Amino acid sequence: MQTKFNPQTVIKRDEISRYLKNDGRDFIDDALIEKQLAEARNHDPKLIRDILAKSLAIETLDTAETAALLHVTDPDLRHEMEQTALKIKRKVYDNRIVTFAPMYISSYCVNNCRYCGFRADNPLQKRRTLTMDEIKAEAEAMTGRDGHKRVMAVYGEHPDTNANFIAQSLDAIYSVRAKTRKGISNVRRVNVNAAPLSIDDLKIVHNAGIGTFQVFQETYHHKTYADMHPANTIKGDYGWRVTCMHRAFDAGIDDVGLGVLFGLHDWRFEVMGLVSHARELERFVGIGPHTFSVPRMHTASGSEIANAPNRFTDDNFAHAVTVLRLSVPYTGLIVTARESPGLRNRCVGLGITQMDASTRIGVGAYAESDGKQEIDKQQFMLGDPRTLEELICDLAKRGIITSFCTAGYRCGRTGGCIMDALKTGKEGTFCKINAVLTFREWLEDFASPESVAICTPVMEAELAAIKETYPKFYPQVLDRYNRIGNGERDLYF
Ligand code: SAM
Ligand code: SF4
Repeated sequence: MQTKFNPQTVIKRDEISRYLKNDGRDFIDDALIEKQLAEARNHDPKLIRDILAKSLAIETLDTAETAALLHVTDPDLRHEMEQTALKIKRKVYDNRIVTFAPMYISSYCVNNCRYCGFRADNPLQKRRTLTMDEIKAEAEAMTGRDGHKRVMAVYGEHPDTNANFIAQSLDAIYSVRAKTRKGISNVRRVNVNAAPLSIDDLKIVHNAGIGTFQVFQETYHHKTYADMHPANTIKGDYGWRVTCMHRAFDAGIDDVGLGVLFGLHDWRFEVMGLVSHARELERFVGIGPHTFSVPRMHTASGSEIANAPNRFTDDNFAHAVTVLRLSVPYTGLIVTARESPGLRNRCVGLGITQMDASTRIGVGAYAESDGKQEIDKQQFMLGDPRTLEELICDLAKRGIITSFCTAGYRCGRTGGCIMDALKTGKEGTFCKINAVLTFREWLEDFASPESVAICTPVMEAELAAIKETYPKFYPQVLDRYNRIGNGERDLYF
């Protein structure tokens, strides 16, 4: 049995109450969401088309508009929504997908979330926390073998993996330089998926160079939240979790990722919750979330509930992704390897922006296992076993370039600055160029001759587009492109 923890020693009440409304309630109004969903059942197709026009202007929709999109059942109108979603993706993010991989650092957890294999009372879980040397070995395998440049570091909630530990682990990951066949590879951006932290703790991880701070609300529905997260645990406190991004901004982290665990409650309600949260952050600091994640509950060994309590079909999944793309057009959308290759491929056509690949979710699994899943050593089972190379080639065959760019964050293009740039399309210039440079780097270091043949046309097409659009800038781009071919690494704008 693991350490029990008194939630009250962790949760800082005044760091919740300052973000609540005057009536002491948080910004998620269940009754209003339910009312808006009920009222949106019978919509006029003209209204839907007006909403699509607003999305195309890269404006955040309000929750009543989101509710209308969530109730569209007519196949032709759904098709129009999907086409508009992809248009928006191309307008804001061009034809790029960014890749990353999760690094599970510890499976110790003091909480008891009923759906999770890491829950404290699960006797079947073989637990482990990586040492700093083991974290470096994971980073070495991820960046040296697969070529990853972005890592999502994942932690259970436990005193042994507190903010100082998280900061040290970021240092450890950033310190690794792996030799490749033509140069070196290193992790250049570490995002963190961890429990909500206090403002002081968030400052610690901010100073350690965190990329995106990601916390999923799991469910925005208050009653379902209480059913899933026992009240005597830290995670049982809805308010501590739902205000964690407000604290992140107050601690100086302006790059945050939201998500829900689909399947716990009605999926339409959850999409409304995500959009409400994004709008609340826009109201609070003028900056919305950098990403939405849409994990869906999968069976976990030793979890208290074997199957998701709410039906959430693949078609619902695609509908949710489409509506999120339309409702908050500038926010990145992540669909993880929890889902099957078929569904992930479908979502690529709906405007998602980030995917993981070569994914292993066992603690220490990149350095130590052959990639086979071991149910008693991981949180749940994965649906997409594709390697990074396979994913990159599948995308290239559809004319999509994989970007390993991490420049925005390292050049200070984050938060409000990146939001404005995304909304106006300005960030696109840098992203387009950096995608080509980092893609070339990856092809030089990691791709097989067959993959090079598949991927080169998309890279050359992008280079040609840069030449045509930015003729004055092009010589500088070509110079860096050629230097990468000669073995220089990590060149970007
Ligand atoms: N412990 C931290 C927390 O809960 O906030 C972060 C790490 S937790 C390992 C990351 C996410 O995994 C959770 O936020 C939850 O959405 C997701 N998760 C938990 N159980 C899952 C399951 N059975 N299937 C799919 N995703 C799951
Ligand atoms: Fe712990 Fe997170 Fe799993 Fe809940 S979801 S049991 S907090 S690791």
